[in-house]
Parts: sequence; structure tokens; C-alpha cells
Amino acid sequence: MQKKKRHEIKSAHTLSPEQHSLELLLASIDDHLVTYDREWRYKFVNDAAARVLGKKPDELLGKSIWKLFPEAVGNQYYRELHEALRTQKRIISEHFYPPFNKWFENHIYPFKGGVTVFSTDITARKHAEALLVESEERFRTMADAAPVFVGLTDEKGKVLFVNRTFLEFLGKTAEDVLGDGYGDVFHPEDLPIFTKAYGNSLRTHSAFTLDCRLRRHDGAYRWLYVTSSPRFNANGTFLGFVSSGIDITDIKRLEKQKDEFIGIASHELKTPITTIKAYTQVLSQRFQKKGDHASADLMSKMDAQLNRLTGLINDLLDVTKMESGKLEFQVRSFDLNALIRRTVEEMRLVAREHPIDLRLSEFGSVRGDRERVGQVLTNFLTNAIKYSPPGKKITVTCAKRNGEVVVSVKDSGIGIPVHERERIFDRFYRIAGDNHDTYAGLGLGLYISREIVERHGGKIWVTSKEGRGSTFSCSLPLKTAPRARANK
Ligand code: ADP
Repeated sequence: MQKKKRHEIKSAHTLSPEQHSLELLLASIDDHLVTYDREWRYKFVNDAAARVLGKKPDELLGKSIWKLFPEAVGNQYYRELHEALRTQKRIISEHFYPPFNKWFENHIYPFKGGVTVFSTDITARKHAEALLVESEERFRTMADAAPVFVGLTDEKGKVLFVNRTFLEFLGKTAEDVLGDGYGDVFHPEDLPIFTKAYGNSLRTHSAFTLDCRLRRHDGAYRWLYVTSSPRFNANGTFLGFVSSGIDITDIKRLEKQKDEFIGIASHELKTPITTIKAYTQVLSQRFQKKGDHASADLMSKMDAQLNRLTGLINDLLDVTKMESGKLEFQVRSFDLNALIRRTVEEMRLVAREHPIDLRLSEFGSVRGDRERVGQVLTNFLTNAIKYSPPGKKITVTCAKRNGEVVVSVKDSGIGIPVHERERIFDRFYRIAGDNHDTYAGLGLGLYISREIVERHGGKIWVTSKEGRGSTFSCSLPLKTAPRARANK
């Protein structure tokens, strides 16, 4: 070690002990330290500098840099060294030296007798920066080319980036929207909803999705489906949001047309079915009177199918009413246990192969729409029967719990996979798969049931073990009445 330092210590005999240790320290640091005299001869070179120059210190000391490295004459380093010596002003700069294929950050300190340069190899940092620039460029190209609207915000909600697709939609420039954003293009009815959802996500660092209307460059409001997800750095620090939006105006219009069609079709189907049902009953009575029991039996089978058809049409009509906020409730007090008993009795008549057990406890009456609550129960029971094999017991319980009453229908049927448990309450949602595909249905019963229960101020949920059975439950508050009208 001592031997290696020979070049710097050559003149050490003239130095004080402090100066000597300082030189030793400078010699051993990883950064490069070089001193030139006014004729650009190396006066001091530390180990790191000699290493990077690819020479022994002895080959450098006392020699002119421009003789040893003639290719550097006239380059940026050459100019800066001369300028610093001439002006006697410090220069800090970054500089790429092709022969070494390296980037340096140079601190050039002039003094009367020459120049001292302290330089750091910043090649790795420069590469990282270049990679970052490249990845930013890649992101930008991707975001700009994507047919969706993309935006980035910082942790305070300031807009950092919007892609070209979105700018073209808005008819604005990046300067218009960066920073304060584009609150002015929201539909006045949707801005408060968006602001609330966004503010909430900003506070809780959580994702949100929303349908909202934004004004396009031509002044037309378009529906966008917006998704915003929080961004975090590697340490988990919240950085802001990345948001995307797609124009769903056409989809919405088609959906509305579809809803209207379903509404009209269901309505139109109701009248002929009611008439057929009436004829069926008349014919059934006639056959009974004539003693033609076989034909009467066929008539009652036909009647059962007509009831099924009516049920399906009623579900479709209910959904149309729900979508347009027209599902109305007739609120009054009623005896829930009596309703459960009656509904179960009716079910026992049509589903003789499933024993239904009743476990009721007394709690007085509830307020709500008796028919609609009955509809929920019927749906739970129909499903319990439909999705469990004949002979399997179904248990209906009703009990008071913390100011509410909970009704549950338990079956021992095919059960529901965990990941489907929320979605089965969605509109037209049916579980796909061998177990479930064999059963017919529209996927509306639970959707309507959820609306009815929630409008009563209650909750609906399911617990289930796949292959072992399910328990569908709903709670109804004992005091509050439901909203007579939907607030959509
Ligand atoms: P539908 O029964 O007409 O398809 P629902 O809205 O009543 O519509 O139910 C939605 C889906 O939930 C059903 O398609 C079925 O896959 C599942 N499901 C409902 N009840 C049960 C149950 N008791 N057991 C197993 N799966 C059920």
C-alpha cells in the first residue's frame, strides 16, 4: 500500500504531517483528483485518476496532458480547462470522453499556478438516466397511440400527463390541462360526483371507477367510463393516480335501447299470456267436469308453465322499472312470519321433492312492501330448490338480531364458488360452468332481490361451500320504512 502511493509521496518530505495525511487521503479516494500546472503538466494524480487514464502515476507526473492524450486537444474538457485557468472561475460540467467510453462530472478549480480537477465517473448514472428517458419515451408512445384516454396525476391531484388521444378528444393542448386539469369540461351534474369520488380516493389512496360525461371538442357531451388507480413507488409512498377512460356513449345508447325494448316486449307479452292463462283455467274446469282427468292434468301443467313465463316477464318488467327508477313500493306494517309461512306453503305445493323446514321466532311486524319482500323469499326458495338435488332439505329461518330481522334460506345444493359471490347479485349474471349451466334462468332474481332489500334499508348476502350448499340471507330493519320511490 505504502509502496503504491510512492508517486504522491515523492514530495512529501517537504510537507507537514497534516498535509501529508491529507495527500494520503486524497490519493485513496475513489473519485479522480488531478492537478495540472500552467503548462498542463500533471503535478498530482491520485490512484483512481491514474487507473482511469490507464497509466502508471510515474508515466503521468511532469508530462503534459495534451502530449499524452493528443486526441483530447480542442475537446470540451480542453476548452473548459483553458477557460477556468484564464478566468480563474470554477467550472462544473458533465462530459463524455469517447476513448474511455465514460461520462465524467468534472469540478475544475483554477488557482494561480494551474488547475485542480476533481472528477467522478458518472457513466452508470448516465446509463440509468438514458434508460429512464427511453422507458418514459416508450410509455409516452404507448399512451399516445392507445385508443383510450390516459392521464397521470401527482400525489396532490395535479395533472402531470394526458395522452394525445385525450387531448384530441378535448380539443386542448397539454399546456391547457397540465397542472390544474380539466374540471371545466365535466358535465355540471357529474362534476360534483367526480370531485367527491376523486377526493375520497386521494384521501384513502384507493382506486375508483365512474361513468361521467365530458365535453368533447365539438361541444357534445360524451359518456366516459373512467378508472383511476393509485400509483406507489418502491417504498410504498403514494405518487398520485393513473387514470384511463373510454367513450361508452354508444354502448350506453344501445343499452338504453335494449332496456326500452325489453320493457315494451315484456309489457306486450303480458296481455296475451294473461288471456291464455284464463282460457287454460276455463278448459281445465271443463275437463274436470267431464271427468277427463288426463286432459285436466295437462291443463294444469300448462298453467304451471304459464306461471313460470309470467314470472320471467315480471322479472324483466321489474328490471326495466328499476333502471328507470320507477319500481314503486307499497309500504305498510305486515307480519313477516305469516308471509314466510304462506310463501313456504305455496312452495311446498310446487316443489314436493324438497322438504322445507321452518324455524321462526317471534318479533312483531315489520314495515315494508309485503309483496316485494315475498318476492325476495320466493326467489331464495326457488333458487334453493332449483340448485339442489331432490330430497335435499331446505331450511328457512327468521330471527331478530340487533334491531333488525334476518331471514335465511339454507340449501344443500351445488353451492357457489367464492369469486362469484358478489357477482351473482349483478344484472343478468349467471354462473358459467358445468354445475350451473344445466339450469335455466335469466340471472335477474338476485339482482331484483338486492334492489328490494336495499330499498328497505336492509342487506343481502350469501354464504356457501361449493358442492355443499348455500345460505342466502337478507336483513330488514325493524323500524325504518323503505323509500317508496327509487332515487335514481
Ligand atoms: P337465475 O337463477 O335466474 O339464473 P338469479 O339472479 O336468481 O338468477 O341467480 C343468479 C345465479 O346465482 C344463478 O344463475 C346461479 O348460478 C347462482 N345461484 C343463485 N342461487 C343459488 C343457489 N341457491 N345455489 C347455487 N347457485 C345459486
